[in-house]
Amino acid sequence: MIDVQNQTAPNTKDRAATMDKIVALSKRRGFVFPGSDIYGGLANTWDYGPLGVELKNNIKRLWWRTFVHLRRDMVGLDAGILMHPRVWEASGHVVNFTDPLVDCKTCKARFRADHLVEERLGVVDAAEKSPDELTALIRAANSPCPNCGNRTLTDARRFNMMFQTTIGPVSETGTPVYLRPETAQGIFVQYKNLLATQRVKLPFGVGQIGKAFRNEITPGNFIFRVLELEQMEIEYFVKPEEGPAAFEAWLAEMHAWVALIGLRDDHVRVREHGKEELSHYSSRTLDFEYLFPGTMGWRELYGLANRTDFDLRSHQEASGEDLRYFDQAANTRYLPHVIEPTFGVDRTFLTVLLDAYDEEETVDVNGKPDTRVLLRLSPRLAPFKAAVLPLAKKPELTTVATSLFETLQAELDAPVGYDETANIGKRYRRQDEIGTPFCVTVDFDTLADQAVTIRDRDTTAQERIPIADVPSYLRERIR
Ligand SMILES: [Zn+2]
Repeated sequence: MIDVQNQTAPNTKDRAATMDKIVALSKRRGFVFPGSDIYGGLANTWDYGPLGVELKNNIKRLWWRTFVHLRRDMVGLDAGILMHPRVWEASGHVVNFTDPLVDCKTCKARFRADHLVEERLGVVDAAEKSPDELTALIRAANSPCPNCGNRTLTDARRFNMMFQTTIGPVSETGTPVYLRPETAQGIFVQYKNLLATQRVKLPFGVGQIGKAFRNEITPGNFIFRVLELEQMEIEYFVKPEEGPAAFEAWLAEMHAWVALIGLRDDHVRVREHGKEELSHYSSRTLDFEYLFPGTMGWRELYGLANRTDFDLRSHQEASGEDLRYFDQAANTRYLPHVIEPTFGVDRTFLTVLLDAYDEEETVDVNGKPDTRVLLRLSPRLAPFKAAVLPLAKKPELTTVATSLFETLQAELDAPVGYDETANIGKRYRRQDEIGTPFCVTVDFDTLADQAVTIRDRDTTAQERIPIADVPSYLRERIR
């Protein structure tokens, strides 16, 4: 793990993955399809295919198990996407959740003013500049439109990134509401009910996984930046004076998670936010950044923030409800502070694929040079835990193989692949490419010795074991 600021990128020549290869493999094998594909797509929307939904569910299940089920100080919540509009006034999103944008009067294209100033004019701290300051810089440089080249950019103005919709059949008389831009507020708004019903004592946390929506105009880089994203968030409530220690403890938990999902140590670093970069609610924030291949470079993966009592205080003032915690031991009431570790499901998915992708130079059955593409996914995350392959499409073999396949699906409580077409080498490659950790081959000897061959994805080593032992053999290795 790289822990210093402005660290230069490590040598990544040994890295097989590029974004283009991951996008192509994702579509080819059914991990991720472009959204609304037959209509030409809709920018920054994607659909998770049959293998993608399995990988995504495995990520979410592992997260829930790690941070909710295995901890006594955590409970879960699944709040709604639609919330009272006043929630977003109290949270600050109505005023602060904005991007500075400029439009081109000629071609009607729209751009992030801070990105334009950063990329075209080389200004480094553009993100901290006001729309007026950005406008002044664009005017001074007489910047052309990056799309059509005409010098017809408007002034920069703030654009709220929340999606708005309407409750009620007629938009003129209905109530405007927002699709939530983050899942966190659902936890703060239910904090009083959680306290009243769950017998929780400080420190305790609430975990939640759910969709959030952001009206982004920035190019997405595949599923890195999407309009509809899924978050895994924790709000951890502590005594105010215990905030800094809890922050450190969660930093360690997040490091452990990054290792658990198998991300490469030298592809992840932690970057502390400077004072001027801190959000309006935070006393301390840091980002876990991941080294994406190519021009993307270091980009935000996860975040950890000390939100102090900002959210509970804002909701207490806006709602008029007393949200203070009654501390029996000290016989006092106060607003707890909140430590917030936040994880994106989609970014986890993308980085797990990037780090799992590998290519091996080998030779094919005719002795010609060949490339083996494989995903070295952790068996916990792999869409299929194993695949059953009858050596030939003969009834005596497929009967045994089908029966083993059904046993494994039930015993492993996870999807298992089954493939009886093409030569065995090709079938191994198909499974390698989707990250299946083990292939189980039923051959003619199986009929006599009641044993099968198990092939390891990473080493391609093969082992012969009794067919009755296959479930326990796999169970031990996929945990
Ligand atoms: Zn233009």
